[in-house]
Amino acid sequence: MKRRNFLRGAAALAALSGTPIAALEKALAKTAAPVEPLLAEWGGPYGGIPPFGTVKATDIKPGLMKGMSLMRSDIGVISSNKAAPTFENTIAAFEDAGRPLGRAQTFFAIYTGTMNDKAMRAVEAEMNPLLATLDDDITQSTSLFQRIQAVYEARTTSGLTDEQQRLAEVHYDRFARRGAKLDAVKKEQLRTINRRLASLYTTFSQNLLADEEEITMVLEREEDLAGLTSDLRAAAAASAETHGQKGKWLLTNTRSSVEPFLTFSTRRDLREKAWRMWTSRGDNGNPHDNRATIVEIVKLRTQRAQLIGYPSHAHWSLANNMAKTPEAAMDLMTRVWKSAVARVHEEVADMQKVAASEGAKITIEPWDYWFYAEKVRKARYDVDQDEVKQYLQLDKIRDGMFWAAGKVYGLEFSKLTDVPVYHPDMTVYEVKRAGQRVGLWYFDPYARAGKSSGAWMNEYRSQERFRDPTTPIVSNNSNFIPGKSGEPVLISWDDANTMFHEFGHALHGLQSNVTYPTLAGTNVKRDFVEFPSQVNERWLTTEEVLKQFALHYKTGQPIPKALVDKIMKAKTFNQGFATVEYLAGAIYDMKLHMTTDPNAAIDPSEFEKKTMSEIGMPKEIVMRHRPKAFGHIFSGDGYSAGYYVYIWADTMSSDAAEAFVEAGGFYDKATCDRLRDTIFSVGNSIAPDVAFRKFRGRDVDTNALMRDRGFPVT
Ligand SMILES: [Zn+2]
Repeated sequence: MKRRNFLRGAAALAALSGTPIAALEKALAKTAAPVEPLLAEWGGPYGGIPPFGTVKATDIKPGLMKGMSLMRSDIGVISSNKAAPTFENTIAAFEDAGRPLGRAQTFFAIYTGTMNDKAMRAVEAEMNPLLATLDDDITQSTSLFQRIQAVYEARTTSGLTDEQQRLAEVHYDRFARRGAKLDAVKKEQLRTINRRLASLYTTFSQNLLADEEEITMVLEREEDLAGLTSDLRAAAAASAETHGQKGKWLLTNTRSSVEPFLTFSTRRDLREKAWRMWTSRGDNGNPHDNRATIVEIVKLRTQRAQLIGYPSHAHWSLANNMAKTPEAAMDLMTRVWKSAVARVHEEVADMQKVAASEGAKITIEPWDYWFYAEKVRKARYDVDQDEVKQYLQLDKIRDGMFWAAGKVYGLEFSKLTDVPVYHPDMTVYEVKRAGQRVGLWYFDPYARAGKSSGAWMNEYRSQERFRDPTTPIVSNNSNFIPGKSGEPVLISWDDANTMFHEFGHALHGLQSNVTYPTLAGTNVKRDFVEFPSQVNERWLTTEEVLKQFALHYKTGQPIPKALVDKIMKAKTFNQGFATVEYLAGAIYDMKLHMTTDPNAAIDPSEFEKKTMSEIGMPKEIVMRHRPKAFGHIFSGDGYSAGYYVYIWADTMSSDAAEAFVEAGGFYDKATCDRLRDTIFSVGNSIAPDVAFRKFRGRDVDTNALMRDRGFPVT
């Protein structure tokens, strides 16, 4: 997953119509505490570093306030310029506007994503609607938009470079998509909707976080641990201790805690209990239930799309993506869906056989899937996940990622100890190529209270050559459970894969080589952004990485060839489950957002029931993210009508992987260079379909995806 900060510098607005909000911002900006560390340019070594040592949580709000006010004056200067609009005095000036606010938003994203305590949640709830309003003020400024439009219309005849033309198009499209062409009445309606949505997104995420933090499952007795491996027991004991239940064991309400339990616990009753806890987040009828929030979000999104001139939120959202229409995305998903469901029926039949052979008189239920899948995996492929895990040490896998990036892209990583961090668990690395600094990589590996679940990449600073040549600063964030001090942290195969995935986003940000920050690194179309990260997963499975870095945590011996062969052979195992749980969510998201009735009060759970029955969802599986915990689509606009992007991008990553295989392997120099030069370094300076064609020599072949997942090619 790639999280984006709100808007980068060029993000904000013009208008300042003397609304109470603008007045409030001005007043606060004047009385603000010293916020310079938050807003100032980043000084220090390595091309400037985020001043974590001096910024405090309490700086965030006054910093954002002052940053917004500075942004407004920057925009005022551009839009009131008496000179005729040119690229330089309009698009370039806009690109350069609001940099202090951009820096403040970087810290805001870091604090809300990784240290979201009660005080920060209050700041978040207060600031998000103001930032949404600022964004509307900018995109709705008639004087600014007229200038942008003038530059856009003259873009091919005014001597601009290709990248400058692209930048003019990107900014123009963004304004138009956000209602810049509407009349005053409609603009006002749009502002009201966006402001309300910003609040609702915050409410949604805070509700979810509350259920994840406040609801836990205590295991009272030794026999409740039946089937669990020793490291899972140790992790559960450690969790109990941090939750004030020393001497017991505790499952937190997070994927990394619940899924291993579902895989290994032999206590079917407790598996069901854990599964219900996990799949009911946001859906407990308590004050954090997300039902009403979702109903309102969906209504407002439909209303907004129709104001701007699209039939539905999905149509509005996809018009700006590679897919262009919801129908194109649905076509791809429907095609894969049928094969995936057929595979699930086979998988369940296999599980049912294992259960019967063990004398368990049960019908496979959702809380049995992980448990019996693991048994089938052992029986059929002789792969024991716990055995594999003993070769997957977090630190070594990280070194393996570095090594692969060295081979593939010529990057070198060295650990820095003189750079401030916001938490002692973090580490920082300088990234170089041929002795030249490429950027910095921050790593925040462990779970803690106030940190969002899952794993993601965050860009602290984009690459650019526009004003001062600037190297990028990126981070990877995950939620591993720290081991006892001095002991290596062992991770699952899936987790190792996720590390390579997130690192792929980091490499995309780091290797950016463009002029304008808006077009840099991961600032690409939503259904393209997962392509580089998914491709990077492929290097984990190379023999070179496994031999050198998948080392047994006790003996230091490399993972045996026989075990690697077995892992490879089992690669398409359980693809039915993985594809169906994901696609069900993606189809739900798309169908929900194809709603065209702007006043329909759609109950998210009823809609889930209806949709799952329409598409023939196997009863043994639920959506990977149930509606009321579906943060991708309800905690912001980013992935809404956009959860499909993973499978869309995977058609490209599967096809790209075949390019490497055809060339003789994943370290083929010419193919590696081409991947860097056509994909990883161009950001959004080139249209994504053009970039892909430059890499592959042709359009994407979606059959590669079917082959990769072991589905029949039809
Ligand atoms: Zn991702």
